[in-house]
Amino acid sequence: MVGNAALNDQSLIELSCLLEQDVPHLAPDAVWLSGKPVLYAHLQDMGVLTLSHDVAGNVVCRDCCNETIRPQANPAAGKADVGYRGYCRDCGWIDLTREQAHFWQAQPLKIARWLASALQLNTRFVVEPVIDGVLWRLGEIEHRRKRRTLFFGRRLPSSADAVHAKLNALVAPGAEVIMTTSDIEQLSNSALADRLVVPLRAVAHIRKAGFVIENLDAYLVGPGAVETSDETSLRLIHTQRVALIGGEKHKLSPQVFSFLKILEDADGDEVHKRHIAEALGVEAATFRTADIVKRHRVVFDTFVESDHKGSYWLKPDFVILERR
Ligand SMILES: [Zn+2]
Repeated sequence: MVGNAALNDQSLIELSCLLEQDVPHLAPDAVWLSGKPVLYAHLQDMGVLTLSHDVAGNVVCRDCCNETIRPQANPAAGKADVGYRGYCRDCGWIDLTREQAHFWQAQPLKIARWLASALQLNTRFVVEPVIDGVLWRLGEIEHRRKRRTLFFGRRLPSSADAVHAKLNALVAPGAEVIMTTSDIEQLSNSALADRLVVPLRAVAHIRKAGFVIENLDAYLVGPGAVETSDETSLRLIHTQRVALIGGEKHKLSPQVFSFLKILEDADGDEVHKRHIAEALGVEAATFRTADIVKRHRVVFDTFVESDHKGSYWLKPDFVILERR
């Protein structure tokens, strides 16, 4: 049984991957073949994944999982829920629902609206597409007396030049904030290398039918001069995926980052490894924290304490109690 927080996290990962595809479509058989139908149903419930008008040309037969069948209108369908059927050489006629016949389509505009709403921009601004299917303008905020224009973008690496040109026309240099599903490391040699680009998943979390935004401030303030200090803290884990130990940056693997984030979210309370496994999407029975800890011994020794019975917590010095 997957907890709701884990389901939300995994849904956002799945959605982000889908949005980074050229065409953010998912074949209907991919939904059930994925073994994650609950996750897709969850995304559909929230309206970020909808059924496209397009019917798939062929889908894998659900009965034999071997032949492919071509969905077509079901003339015998009295009920709307089996509006399609397909003929399998081995199994004969197979009834199909709309979900089993139509492509599923991710809705980036909905994501843009969720962001605008979570940032309370929706009362003053209307989300506008700036580059069709790539970039949306969400609105403006005032941050430390500086006006910032917020955007949501997908597939930025392949549209970097176009986005760069558009930003030049729309905002003052350095005033843009682009939240994205793209891998921002791929932008380091692109026209967007100097732009403020924020990974969506570092700041946005699905809660109920929308986002909550956390840690965006850390990106707006910037990393600051830390190279010359002897600081030991976790304040750069969200922006740079590093832990600072004695001023030195220790790069965190995605799994260690998630581990620390779970402890951070618990505000210093004990978290049992069962919950950590769940949040990481790992089977609890096969989850061995020792495997993670031993490869990042210094980071864990510095920031984390354990009762050696399966509970972990952040050392009090590193708990940020007042998050902005
Ligand atoms: Zn079949």
